[in-house]
Amino acid sequence: MAKLNPFEIAGRQLSECAKILKLDSGVREILRIPMREFHISLPIRMDDGSVKVFQGFRVQYNDARGPTKGGIRFHPDETIDTVRALAAWMTWKCALLDLPLGGAKGGIICNPKQMSKGELERLSRAYINRVWQLIGPDRDIPAPDVYTNPQIMGWMMDEYSKIVGKNQFGVITGKPLSIGGSAGRGDATARGGMYTVREAAKECSVDLKEATVAIQGYGNAGYNAAYLAKTLFGSKIIAVSDSKGGIFSKEGIEPEVVHEYKAKTGSVINFPDAESISNEEILEIEVDILVPAALENVITEENAPNIKAKILAELANGPTTPEADDILCKNGVHVLPDFLCNAGGVTVSYFEMVQNFNMDYWDEKEVHERLNKKMTSAYDSVLNTSKEYSINMRQAAYVVAVERVVEAMELRGWI
Ligand code: GLU
Repeated sequence: MAKLNPFEIAGRQLSECAKILKLDSGVREILRIPMREFHISLPIRMDDGSVKVFQGFRVQYNDARGPTKGGIRFHPDETIDTVRALAAWMTWKCALLDLPLGGAKGGIICNPKQMSKGELERLSRAYINRVWQLIGPDRDIPAPDVYTNPQIMGWMMDEYSKIVGKNQFGVITGKPLSIGGSAGRGDATARGGMYTVREAAKECSVDLKEATVAIQGYGNAGYNAAYLAKTLFGSKIIAVSDSKGGIFSKEGIEPEVVHEYKAKTGSVINFPDAESISNEEILEIEVDILVPAALENVITEENAPNIKAKILAELANGPTTPEADDILCKNGVHVLPDFLCNAGGVTVSYFEMVQNFNMDYWDEKEVHERLNKKMTSAYDSVLNTSKEYSINMRQAAYVVAVERVVEAMELRGWI
C-alpha cells in the first residue's frame, strides 16, 4: 500500500467538517494551510569528530485563539507533511479543550536511539538556535512529542534563556520538575485519555473493572495508559507492543514489571510468561478497549473490519485513516478521536505555562482535578455534538474545535 500522507488526511477530515458547518471557501482555505512554516538545517559535531547536517521543521498552523503550541518530534521518518498534519491537529486539540492557544508542531529527522546524550544535547540546542526568534512564551511554545523528553525540554529552555539573556521557563513545556515543570505532566497524556475512556465506558455500558485492554506502543503514553487502566479502573491489560513487536497474556500483564523489563532490554518483546504478538495482530485481538499509542495510519481500511474493541482510545496522533473511520463507525466502535483522547498532554502543558507565568506551583492533586474537569467537559461536548448532528465522534470533535477557531477568526476580523 502506498504510504499515506497525514497532511492529506488532515485536509480530508477538515473538509468533511467544513461541509457539515457549511463554511465558505475562503474560510476553508485559511484553515487548510499552515499560517507559517520553517525549514532549518542543523549542523552537529558528532562524537566521532565528523559533522552531520540534520533537517528540522517548525510549523505554526493557526494562532487565532492564542500563541501556537505543540511538541517537537525526533524521528527518522519525520516529514514536513507529518509536521503540518500534527500542527493542524494541535490547533483543533487546543480549541477543543478550550485552551487559549493555537496549534504548532516541530520535528527533526534523526534517530535519537542511535545518538549519544552529548549529540542529542547539541542537536536540541542547535534547534533552538535556529528557531529562537520564531518562538517565545507569547508566540509559540514547544513541548515533547515522540522520542523527546523532559531533559531535552530542559536543554531547549536553557538555550533559549541564554540567548534572550533571562530565565524564560514559559518558552517550553514538559520540562523537568526542578526547572519549571508541572506536577502531573509526565503521565498527563495517558491520564487525560483514561478520563475520556471512563466517560466512554459509561456511554457504552462497559464495566471497566472487568474490561480487557490492548495497547500498541509502550513509550510515555502507552506505558502510562497501561498502568493507569490497571490502577484507576482495575482493567486487565492483555497485550502491549512497541516498535519491535508485542506480547500477549490472557491472564494479564503487570504494566510496571513490563516497563522495567523494557528499560533493561530495550523492548517488551520476549517478556517471560507471555506469548509473542505482532504490531498488526495486537489491533485485531478480542478486547474491550484498544489503545493505539504509537504512530499515524495504523488502522486502515484493511484491518478496520477486524477490530473487535468496543472503545478505540486514540492516544497516538492520527492512528486512523478516513476509510477506516467509516468502517469503525458502521461497526459501532466508540472512537475517542486523537485530538480529544490525547489532549491531556497539552492541557497540563498549558497548566505548566500558567504556573510559570504566576510563579506559583500546584500539587499533583490539583493538576489531576483540573485535568479531569477539562477532559470530562471536552468529552461531553463531543458526545453531545455527535448526537445533535448525528455525526461520528471525530466529526463532532472537529465541529466543536473548528467552530471555535472560526469564531476567533471572525472576531479578529480575519474573515
Ligand atoms: N506532543 C503532545 C501532543 O501531541 C503535547 C503537546 C504540548 O504539550 O504542547 O499533544
